[in-house]
Amino acid sequence: MALQYSALCKGCWQQMHVPIPLRGGFSMPFRVVGIRPSRMNPNICTICEMMFERLMKARTVTIDATILFADLRGYTRLSQSVPAAEVASLLDTFYDHCAEAIWAFDGLLNKTLGDAVMAVFNFPIKHPDHARQAVLAAREMQRCFAERRAQLAQLLGPEGADFGVGVGIHTGAVSFGEFGHSHRDLTAIGTVVNIAARAQAAAGPGEILVTQEVRDQAPVELQDRAARDYTLKGFDRPVTLYTA
Ligand SMILES: [Zn+2]
Repeated sequence: MALQYSALCKGCWQQMHVPIPLRGGFSMPFRVVGIRPSRMNPNICTICEMMFERLMKARTVTIDATILFADLRGYTRLSQSVPAAEVASLLDTFYDHCAEAIWAFDGLLNKTLGDAVMAVFNFPIKHPDHARQAVLAAREMQRCFAERRAQLAQLLGPEGADFGVGVGIHTGAVSFGEFGHSHRDLTAIGTVVNIAARAQAAAGPGEILVTQEVRDQAPVELQDRAARDYTLKGFDRPVTLYTA
């Protein structure tokens, strides 16, 4: 999928019906005063980002959102058989595919942590079916990465097989705010975030695991998907996850 960047800020348009140009000649006067595409989502502007930061500094808010974690499996092992530059380029490809898939479905690329990314859907661009948007973004990530995976499998044989992207998704109420003492970080926290992270850890390379709540909100996409109970680290009871 070639990413089509939005000409106008989707956040300003959705919330205030104000057309803020992000690209092309009309965006020039705006760029001069510092209004440009956000780094967390190039389809929203830096005003949206600032409003978001100001709101979050004032207080912690609870929002209904979908959290997606994706990470790259098996790439450290590859460094034994593949040149370092190639491994670095794989990581770049991973970030690019993840970012483009997240933005194509209006998610916010909230964090990159080592070889993983965390995305938030339904903020600041709202979608009533945000859980479904996250599932579609995850499928797009896997689709984009499949070719690279196949190339490596061909090159490395069985060793390339445990290389791939694992994705976990959960949806519900999350707390958004600035957390941490030494390094204050703008992010989402809560059980929903923890379960999404654990589901990602349980996913195999090339796999997407989602919770019952996600499945309930994307019934068409996930209706025939198999359920399995997983014991997730830090949770007493098994959690039912679906392969998406
Ligand atoms: Zn905006």
